[in-house]
Amino acid sequence: MKFAMDNLEIKEEVLIKISSILQELEIEGYVIGGYVRDKILGKESKDIDIVVLGKGIDVAKKIVPRLPSAHSLVVYKNFGTAMFLYKDIQIELVGARKESYKRNSRKPIVEEGSLEDDLMRRDFTINALAISLNKDFGRLLDPFNGIKDLKDKIIRTPLEPDKTFDDDPLRMMRAIRFATQLNFEIEKNTYEAINKNKDRIKIVSQERIIDELNKIIMAQKPSIGFLLLENTGLLKLILPELSAMNSVEVKNGISHKNNFLHSIQVLDNIASNTNNLWLRWAALLHDIGKPKTKRFEEGVGWTFYGHEILGAKMIPTLFKRLRLPLNDKMKYVQKLVRLHLRPIALVEEEVSDSAVRRLLFEAGDDIDDLMLLAEADITSKNQQKVKKYLENFKKVRQKLLEVEQKDRIRNFQPPISGEIIMETFGIPPSKIVGDIKDAIKDAILDGEIHNNYEESYNLMLKLAKRYKLSPVTNKYKPEQNEKQNT
Ligand code: ATP
Repeated sequence: MKFAMDNLEIKEEVLIKISSILQELEIEGYVIGGYVRDKILGKESKDIDIVVLGKGIDVAKKIVPRLPSAHSLVVYKNFGTAMFLYKDIQIELVGARKESYKRNSRKPIVEEGSLEDDLMRRDFTINALAISLNKDFGRLLDPFNGIKDLKDKIIRTPLEPDKTFDDDPLRMMRAIRFATQLNFEIEKNTYEAINKNKDRIKIVSQERIIDELNKIIMAQKPSIGFLLLENTGLLKLILPELSAMNSVEVKNGISHKNNFLHSIQVLDNIASNTNNLWLRWAALLHDIGKPKTKRFEEGVGWTFYGHEILGAKMIPTLFKRLRLPLNDKMKYVQKLVRLHLRPIALVEEEVSDSAVRRLLFEAGDDIDDLMLLAEADITSKNQQKVKKYLENFKKVRQKLLEVEQKDRIRNFQPPISGEIIMETFGIPPSKIVGDIKDAIKDAILDGEIHNNYEESYNLMLKLAKRYKLSPVTNKYKPEQNEKQNT
């Protein structure tokens, strides 16, 4: 990491070229924001924001034809911004601006301004750094001591924090997101201003909130962000169900664990094993049904019976409110929440083939993710216990492989369909059809018969007898039906 510099060595071809074009056109320009911050932190960035004195769109239209390899220019007249690509680098160009805000909206009134005005409207000192693209190419401008804050790992607003957050409350989420991504501290006054202005979050659109929340979840250690959200009071406003888990009740000297702290620990654990956003969401929400199912039973202690079922039921409402997708991603999270205890139950009992088959049948292709979640769920401080669980999980994984190879249960469809049952016995759709079908499926999962057509057909005949049904056709009889007899 480089600090205390006046000049940065800029080797990016695109910036060298843009700088010479701007000088030729006699237009003042600067690289600002995330690119400068990340460059100083030694991180690569494929997004470059440039501020020019003048109209951003007009300047972009002059630059693109003069810059070989620049393409895909898009202009946003409403925002006065222009975007284009240089190879795979995305360049955004905007005129320097001055902003003022109204109470009821985070949309500012915008006027043309100087570079100082532009840096002043930025959210944090570490995002208010600029690199000159002018004659003094590479000179670093740091009006708010952003370099020092980068060095000290501090998130601080350039202006008065109370006003900064009141103007645009999304910045509260951004402060917490940057603190999480960069593992920085939020400076005391900035932190207190978040707590003071938290209720202003209601003027921010749910989509913007979720954007930031997803970035927190995708960080290396998301618990940093969730602790900050909870402690500033924001979590209660945006995800009250999770905040409700932050308690420990004691009865007759018996306490239960703090399920909020447990959930964010599980999220941290899974974050070291997956970049799948939805698996991370499942980890965060796996115990979400606990507060509503919590009971104290004499002689037993605290119980949360059925929390996984209730939790899974809560997911659609929660996703809808948060404006998360209501498609297969939601169903995936729901399924993992519903099944999250199953691998642990397997570990606690003798691992029988039939229990493994049932789990494979229900989890399908998501079995590996479910195993990752179950392993991440072990947060005991007792290292012996953790070791024992993880070893047992290894056995479960081995057993899963064996059973899958033998019985091909993953994505399994019972070999006898409802159609076959109805046609064979000449009956209409009815409960009997469903019962026979389920009984065949259960017999396969329990290992009573093999997963093949012939044994399933014979069992169907046996079961039908109980309902006094006999075949009216031999159309589906195995020897008549070589193809299905696999
Ligand atoms: P990343 O790309 O990692 O999200 P970034 O800093 O580039 O980080 P952007 O959202 O692309 O973030 O914003 C670019 C710059 O615009 C920021 O660095 C900051 O200077 C400024 N900015 C963005 N959003 C706001 C805001 N709500 N209030 C004030 N300044 C902002």
